[in-house]
Amino acid sequence: MSNVWSSQISFQNGLLNLSGIAAPDLARDFGTPTFFLDESDFRSRAVSWKKALDESFGENAGSVYYAGKAFLCVEVARWVAQSGIGLDVCTGGELAVALAADFPVQKIQVHGNNKSVEEINRGIEVGVGTVVIDSLYEIERVAAAAKKYGKSQAVLLRVTPGIEANTHESIATAHEDVKFGFSIASGAAWGAIQALRVHPEIELRGFHSHIGSQILSTYAFGLAADRLVTLLTKYRDAFGEELPELDLGGGYGIAYLPGDEELTPIEVLPLLFDAVQQSCKKSNLKIPKVSIEPGRAIVGPTMFTLYEVGTVKDVVLESGEVRKYISVDGGMSDNIRPSLYGAEYTAVIANRVSNSELVLSRVVGKHCETGDIVIRDIQLPADIKPGDLLAVPATGAYGRSMASNYNHLPRPPVVAVFEGKARVILRRESYDDLLNLDV
Ligand SMILES: *Cc1c(COP(=O)(O)O)cnc(C)c1O
Repeated sequence: MSNVWSSQISFQNGLLNLSGIAAPDLARDFGTPTFFLDESDFRSRAVSWKKALDESFGENAGSVYYAGKAFLCVEVARWVAQSGIGLDVCTGGELAVALAADFPVQKIQVHGNNKSVEEINRGIEVGVGTVVIDSLYEIERVAAAAKKYGKSQAVLLRVTPGIEANTHESIATAHEDVKFGFSIASGAAWGAIQALRVHPEIELRGFHSHIGSQILSTYAFGLAADRLVTLLTKYRDAFGEELPELDLGGGYGIAYLPGDEELTPIEVLPLLFDAVQQSCKKSNLKIPKVSIEPGRAIVGPTMFTLYEVGTVKDVVLESGEVRKYISVDGGMSDNIRPSLYGAEYTAVIANRVSNSELVLSRVVGKHCETGDIVIRDIQLPADIKPGDLLAVPATGAYGRSMASNYNHLPRPPVVAVFEGKARVILRRESYDDLLNLDV
């Protein structure tokens, strides 16, 4: 099951070991539940997306933007900057983290389907490189902000190319019936282009699409690229000039379960280049600079969550089968994805070898909801018991970033481990943190 663990993880005599530190030591020093982040794995993933984009697209390589919503804190924003890639933010809060990390503003791209006037003004005031336009209101707002701060603002127009990528409905964003962007098919995108062109403060650089998340089909990305190139062609034919950029978004799938596939940069980006090149050739269009926005594919595999088992209960099902309910000291507050999207994870006992038989088990949290499930069905050793450590891999994306304080659980920390040293980069919330909000 090595494909679900980050590169610096090994197993020795049943002990999970991250960069030389064994799970029981990590638990003793940092408590549970905790997200442990394999820093060298993060850095090498960030660099490998950039390298593969540069190699596949050559002079047509745009930027890699790390999608900060997958997981962001000040330290991670620094690593992203050090890796030479850009950052995608979609709220004023994410922008504040980037600025606190002294992230190069020119390499920040601002997203969001409902950016507030304040968020737009702040972004343009500090000099973000690109704003991705998502509504007609925003065109006016961006133009007004650019005028106010005496800038010409580079923008992309977010469009929906009408593709249903094969993924869960709440993360499939590019079919037509969605809140994001402008539909190409209905003509909405064309209307927005015309509305953009009347503003001298706005420099339209090209189009953006993000067709969903956890996508494992390169074909879907190629199809999206083709539809965007068709729109670039229509633009050239109407206005006699070519727009220089496309951004094809993120969504590259990772492995969550043993045997799962993932989309690696060296697999997907050459195919993406071929798709863009062929579409451009058809229309006799110059190949635009192409940018991408991986979030999950950079941070997802780099973290695992370490829980401690609290209680274990055998429940007899109607069929007579027994299901072992294993309760851990976190749950839907640190990983909402199973209840939100039916996402699946695996887990191992991280503190010992067990030669016990495997039995039907369900890993659940400590929240007051039946749906508080970390892993719905898994085979785990029958002798699992209170005090055991359970490690759940691939929780780096949309885990801590979607964490809540449900049941007043303090949110877990993120601990980075690098070359045999572990350090907290986002501390655990305390009861004081929670009480601080009560007036
Ligand atoms: C969420 C999102 C991403 C990142 O998606 P991943 O599945 O994490 O790669 C990129 N771009 C946009 C616009 C997004 O909304």
